[in-house]
Amino acid sequence: MDAAEFRRRGREMVDYVADYIENIEKRQVYPDVEPGYLRSLIPEEAPEEPESYEDVVKDIERVIMPGVTHWHSPYFYAYFPTAHSYPAMLADILCGAIGCIGFSWAASPACTELETVMLDWLGKMLKLPEDFLAGTKGKGGGVIQSTASEATLITLLAARSKIVRLIQADHPDRSETDIISKLVAYSSDQAHSSVERAGLIGGVRMKKIPTDSKFSVRGDALERILKEDKAAGLIPFFFCATLGTTASCAFDCITELGPICNAEKMWMHIDAAYAGSAFICPEFRPLLNGIEFADSFNFNPHKWLLINFDCSAMWVKKRADIIGAFKMEPLYLKHDHQESGLVTDYRHWQIPLGRRFRSLKMWFVFRMYGLKALQAYIRKHVGLAKEFEAFVRADQRFEISADVVMGLVCFRLKGPNELSENLLKRINSARKIHLVPCHLAGLFVLRFAVCARATESRHVQEAWCHIRQLASELLQELLH
Ligand SMILES: *Cc1c(COP(=O)(O)O)cnc(C)c1O
Repeated sequence: MDAAEFRRRGREMVDYVADYIENIEKRQVYPDVEPGYLRSLIPEEAPEEPESYEDVVKDIERVIMPGVTHWHSPYFYAYFPTAHSYPAMLADILCGAIGCIGFSWAASPACTELETVMLDWLGKMLKLPEDFLAGTKGKGGGVIQSTASEATLITLLAARSKIVRLIQADHPDRSETDIISKLVAYSSDQAHSSVERAGLIGGVRMKKIPTDSKFSVRGDALERILKEDKAAGLIPFFFCATLGTTASCAFDCITELGPICNAEKMWMHIDAAYAGSAFICPEFRPLLNGIEFADSFNFNPHKWLLINFDCSAMWVKKRADIIGAFKMEPLYLKHDHQESGLVTDYRHWQIPLGRRFRSLKMWFVFRMYGLKALQAYIRKHVGLAKEFEAFVRADQRFEISADVVMGLVCFRLKGPNELSENLLKRINSARKIHLVPCHLAGLFVLRFAVCARATESRHVQEAWCHIRQLASELLQELLH
């Protein structure tokens, strides 16, 4: 393909994409295919001779689309949202064109510098404490990780290396293996599975703190376990708080937990993967109070801030904690400016070496929406969730299972779990809307997450009518 053809095909592809998005609600949100469907539709091996672009494009509708779950359909209410916008997609094209690998400042100065400034912009939108911003003289700063899972893992590993060094400073005879065998990390019993996984990968004990009736970790619950663990000779070193849990969007009480972590010299990381985007709105910002006690904070603009995957924003108060933990300096990655202290080499902040120019997506989206439109977007989704909540509350057969704070409604049919399990099966096999469940305090609960940019009140009403209809059929059948 030469530049002339690229120009033509590029325009066609943009048209195809715009048509896909504008007409997405006409597609069935969840596919009908069976596992293995795709292999039989394409050859066993890559072609020896080139094929035409037309041949490839034809296969998008034949091979790919039948097996797509349409996350941006207004009938998609599963998981949490994944963000999507035209400016972000355009920025991604540019990112692909530049195609740099920004592991160090010298490897592409714009890639590194725009990222540092964008993370400051975003930190200011959230009103993060100054300590987390890089500015020109700050000790903190932000970085784009691929996912919240990686942010949790990297902070856990940094905390692990920090505590080992701290203990060895006083007890040079204690081996790293011995210290690590005594370490213990904590999270909420509602924390995302990636937090437990970070413990497994990091080779440290990870304990779950029981939550209260609102599914939040409280200070006394953490204190109780710390006391037991210290008495047993363990070394608490890391606490991962969650703001906006995946199951029910609950918030750990970080104003209580933060001072405890600080007093115990434990690293406090905050995972706000979904809810973090809402903190750009003043009315939701109080949920972030207590951030001043944290060592690191992370959320996913790729979930709810109109920036396509991947873009997980992470800030640390002392970037030396992250950079110092895993520093490697092979000659081929060195450059003239790295000793100047003025530049960031993001390779030290993350597990992989390579990194894309992802901050372009932030730059485009922040500038083309502006803070006000981003706030309006968050508020619209929360409003739609409240609308759905009101429908559920007005129907005596249903109950709401957790406070509706943001864009997620947890609800169920009153009575035994089997009823709600059966209802969810019917919903997902009808394929009109798509939902996933969770467990809350032993109850089987349906999660209705407002996800797509295209979701409007009429879609939510339609979704509710559909759910109510399926529930009526289910309850009717049980009577007979
Ligand atoms: C979605 C989610 C995650 C995982 O996000 P990734 O970026 O896919 O790793 C982690 N924590 C919470 C609270 C989440 O909602």
